[in-house]
Amino acid sequence: MAKIKFQNGKWDVPSNPTILYIEGDGIGPEITRAAMKVIDTAVRVAYSGSRQIEWKEVLAGDKANQEKGDRFPQETKDAIEEYRVILKGPLQTPIGKGWKSVNVAIRLMLDLYANIRPVRYINGIESPLKNAEKVDMIIFRENTDDLYRGIEYIYDSNEAKMIRQFMKDKLNVEIEEDTGIGIKVISRAKTQRITRLAMRYAVEKKRKKVTIMHKGNVMKYTEGAFREWAYETILKEFRENAVTEDEMSQGAKVEGKVIVNDRIADNMFQQIILRPDEYDVILAPNVNGDYISDAAGALVGNIGMLGGANIGDDGGMFEAIHGTAPKYAGKNVANPTGIIRGGELMLNFMGWYEASNLIEKVIEKVIEKKKVTQDIARFMNVNPLSTSEFTDILCKEM
Ligand code: NAD
Repeated sequence: MAKIKFQNGKWDVPSNPTILYIEGDGIGPEITRAAMKVIDTAVRVAYSGSRQIEWKEVLAGDKANQEKGDRFPQETKDAIEEYRVILKGPLQTPIGKGWKSVNVAIRLMLDLYANIRPVRYINGIESPLKNAEKVDMIIFRENTDDLYRGIEYIYDSNEAKMIRQFMKDKLNVEIEEDTGIGIKVISRAKTQRITRLAMRYAVEKKRKKVTIMHKGNVMKYTEGAFREWAYETILKEFRENAVTEDEMSQGAKVEGKVIVNDRIADNMFQQIILRPDEYDVILAPNVNGDYISDAAGALVGNIGMLGGANIGDDGGMFEAIHGTAPKYAGKNVANPTGIIRGGELMLNFMGWYEASNLIEKVIEKVIEKKKVTQDIARFMNVNPLSTSEFTDILCKEM
């Protein structure tokens, strides 16, 4: 079996790479199989047999629990360590109790530090926005730093008491006793690596602009530092390919370069609604990235339509952004577009652009013809297709 290899963040992809898949829970098995079928068809049409993915199933979630008595068995972990690229159906995680998230476990295992979410409008989909056709953004969210790192203490814990005492004794800062404590950490190295990934993507895909999202006016030494370190990395490592907004105002030429600017986080929430065409690649620390991803997703209407990726320097996991939609499980009605677009992103990272473009185009074409699953059909007043009918049409129209 041929493995995808990684060197300095670059993917070295053989013509017949082994890629892992996890079916997922709920609607997972139906939509994951649909995605594999569409991806295989796109690869066949694009390369006439000279390239082909060899899929290898690994068990996780409900299926693993039923067959192995473990939601995340050792042999799955071993295969993930070895092959490092995964197409993943949604996995259920209970809130506030029960087992730990397998999604998070995989992310930690492979150090998948970037959460990437493309948000692009597709003609014909109902959107709350007047000019939805102007939405074409891709968010690069740092995934391992910031408040979500989870350094948090309940207000009456010993840790919280010790921190309050330390702050009082050593730093002369008084914190009230009824205060829970969470620590915000943003590091230079982690800012640099997400910046590199976003810039490399912007340059390779000829995107117009990278916007650094931050609240550095208030949180100067975390979010302000994120802004500073991002600019520093871009100007040091991508000097030939980048022009800043400041440089432009002093007459620098844009031609062929990626424009780099930064915006205050709260301002961006109204800007992506009022002026979506001004946003292209968005580079954000963890918490901002989480919020803006959902807000941007809402601009294009439908949760079933969006895919995403978790990427590290030597691995990637590709998925839909939605969950297991348990009420539709096993009914052959779910919309598989989200995970198919996760697959489109995977082909992009593999450098199999011809195949990923085919998927992008065929989704637009089929939806324009109002061939859609029930979640979209009800807004279009047309008869819905089943998951498998929709999948077959995508393959046929490619
Ligand atoms: P959900 O995304 O499963 O569902 C939200 C709503 O959207 C529901 O009404 C659902 O029916 C609908 N929906 C979602 N995907 C659809 C599709 N492809 N086609 C048609 N309709 C679709 O979110 P939830 O209900 O909050 O979560 C259910 C479970 O999924 C939870 O256990 C959660 O932990 C898990 N989850 C997993 C992932 C992941 O694996 N990455 C992501 C989100 C949620």
